[in-house]
Amino acid sequence: MNTPIKFLDLAALNARFARKFEAVFQEVLASGWYLSGSATQRFEQQFAAYCGTQHCVGVANGLDALTLILMAQKECLGWEDDDEVILPAMTFVATAQAVVRARLRPVLVDVSPEDFLMDVSLLEATVTSRTRAVIPVHLYGRLCDMDAVKQVAERHHLFVLEDAAQAHGAQRNGVRAGAFGHAAAFSFYPGKNLGALGDGGSIVTNDTELADKVRALANYGSRKKYYHEGLGLNSRLDELQAALLSIKLESLDEDNQQRQQWARYYIEHLNTPYIQCPTWPNAIEEHVFHLFPVLTDHREALQTYLHKRGIDTLVHYPIPLHRQPCLTPYFRDKSFPITEQVAAKELSLPMSPILSKVEIDTVIQTLNRFTP
Ligand SMILES: *Cc1c(COP(=O)(O)O)cnc(C)c1O
Repeated sequence: MNTPIKFLDLAALNARFARKFEAVFQEVLASGWYLSGSATQRFEQQFAAYCGTQHCVGVANGLDALTLILMAQKECLGWEDDDEVILPAMTFVATAQAVVRARLRPVLVDVSPEDFLMDVSLLEATVTSRTRAVIPVHLYGRLCDMDAVKQVAERHHLFVLEDAAQAHGAQRNGVRAGAFGHAAAFSFYPGKNLGALGDGGSIVTNDTELADKVRALANYGSRKKYYHEGLGLNSRLDELQAALLSIKLESLDEDNQQRQQWARYYIEHLNTPYIQCPTWPNAIEEHVFHLFPVLTDHREALQTYLHKRGIDTLVHYPIPLHRQPCLTPYFRDKSFPITEQVAAKELSLPMSPILSKVEIDTVIQTLNRFTP
């Protein structure tokens, strides 16, 4: 058998940066300053510039980034407990847990069968007098239709929070993920397109008041040392992770381009009636292929078949939000048919910038030979 093809070989992916990582580790170690210092500040400036926003605030993870933005807006604008926030039914659970953590009420919209992103044509019908915000999720690295989201949001004065945890660098007409909405949340979880060697996250925004509020909330509700205007969290991006992320940010565009090339190669060469590939977006630069999701009616058999031949796959995500035990009180009796189909049929093929041509060809040939 060939050497196994991992879903995502993080050791090999990060080994490319080993020398630079070791150098900044020595620097941070010697500095004696491990939190809220110059490395974090530098990365915040670099990432804000990269996204095309005025502010970036580093935080501990993507869940906190989402939560802190909602907490900040809730306080600044006087939203009440249980005011509503709309999000897609197909996303990682963090998007919804952040809403609940901010003591707001999640309201779901089904996804589109084309791209598995929020079906924006259904958005307006879910708006009520208590709706305060909408969270478009750029799932799998593909940008949600932000023009359409913003039109509905403007009509109803909704706050637009992008969940960009899977879409670092995705762009449309030169505007990057994070620069479309009023604010955006990023995760630097190791497996993301821009991933740390541990947890990390950030918020980006052009709203100075919001950025300041998030910074205070992420620091025990404090702007001035030992003076706490309100309750907050302790949520920091540390100096070492920030320094590592600055190094990896330099290669993000190149890595994303490689992901796009492999995605195109998959789409052009996968030739089997048993799977349906994602459609190629109108403009190549839109999509950064955090994942390569296909649909199949034979998921279990296909996954076992590939596993036996040394090819790892994953499912994103097998249980939709409205079927999650932690969220059922909000969505009893609700059904989102497209989301349920995606949850039942989705399979993510190996995808990373360091896959080799031989590996991709092996995945394709193996898949093309599959019969249920
Ligand atoms: C990863 C992810 C998050 C949460 O990020 P963490 O850093 O793991 O907390 C939020 N939303 C989406 C869509 C994600 O993929």
